[in-house]
Amino acid sequence: MKVVIKNCNEYDLDLVKSKIKESLDELGGLPSLIKPNDKVFIKLNCLGPFNQDLGITTHPVVLKAVIELVKEITPNISLGDNPAVRDQIQTMKKNGTYDVAVEENVRIIDTKEFKKIYNPTYKLYSEFEVSKEMLDNDVIINLPKLKTHSLAYITAAEKNLFGFIYGLNKSAWHVKANNPSIFGQVINDLYGAIKENYKDKPFISICDGIIALEGEGPSTGGKAKDAKVLLTSLDPVSLDRVAVEVMGLDFNKSYITKIAGERGYGETDLSKIEIVGDKLENKHFLEPHNALDNGKLAILKFKPLRNALLEHPTIDHNKCIRCGECTRICPPKTMVIEKGEYPHLKTLKCIRCWCCAEVCPQNAISKSKRPVLGKILLK
Ligand code: SF4
Ligand code: SF4
Repeated sequence: MKVVIKNCNEYDLDLVKSKIKESLDELGGLPSLIKPNDKVFIKLNCLGPFNQDLGITTHPVVLKAVIELVKEITPNISLGDNPAVRDQIQTMKKNGTYDVAVEENVRIIDTKEFKKIYNPTYKLYSEFEVSKEMLDNDVIINLPKLKTHSLAYITAAEKNLFGFIYGLNKSAWHVKANNPSIFGQVINDLYGAIKENYKDKPFISICDGIIALEGEGPSTGGKAKDAKVLLTSLDPVSLDRVAVEVMGLDFNKSYITKIAGERGYGETDLSKIEIVGDKLENKHFLEPHNALDNGKLAILKFKPLRNALLEHPTIDHNKCIRCGECTRICPPKTMVIEKGEYPHLKTLKCIRCWCCAEVCPQNAISKSKRPVLGKILLK
């Protein structure tokens, strides 16, 4: 499987468009992947209403470049995502993708109608309810950002597909998948179901790391990183495997990609991935604080130990605007807010999904220090 690396210094439309075109040409060219009158769905990353410069959501210039290239072949384009909070339109208006959709006269899908999809080779969950309009297409173009992730370690092509699931339902999945390894299984169960739906149809992923995100991603807790790179592939798993190397991070902690490789959902053996375009350069991303490898997860199987060993979310009252987003998203409803007060953890049922930090518009939620016992046992 091929992964194309292209260095790209800035969000200049002509530059980005030429880099994406060169990348797609390496994969046979867009006309070999899309036929006239095909229906093309562009899957955005619209995690929340964040400014485009933060490196959190699909950049409007990347979206515009892709739309212009696809329009040379077919006008039948739709786009969308299920943000974690707030509605899709509000989120798109904030990150600039709404204006692009309007200018280019591209339809924004209605995400609220569901369809059930099934994964015949599932490990934990076979059935998922996803936005129907994301499925009924001939080609998918997946536009993830290149980011670190407090729970999943990295998020790029495969994890971006979690947005097929409606926002509030995503939160429920976090309760079922309450550690990085189980979460990796769930994302792969979902990916298998999406793949089944898009069987034999082109599945193009173009990952934007021109401004990427490092540290406590995937949202305001992370730091924008000038990685100046675009990654493109027809296999999201191969793309993510190369992304780990570009980020200079540890493949053993990249559960989603590792599990995908073990299941044969894509290629994770670097010697079997053909890397073309520009040279693979290690960009030295900061990893999320205290990322957990398999050995540490084995200790944490004993749930009562978690509070004694793990960090928990803390609120910075100087930054918090008491909007309550963190309490609305919290899957076990352990983060609560009383009228006029700051949010706080009500019980010890925190599952460390870090959804609260992900949706906080103020970057007011961070990880506490790891308890002393955790420092010893999880060293
Ligand atoms: S911590 Fe963040 S999300 Fe929660 S109430 Fe404060 S500002 Fe809002
Ligand atoms: S408090 Fe935050 S990290 Fe803990 S369960 Fe709720 S959303 Fe997840």
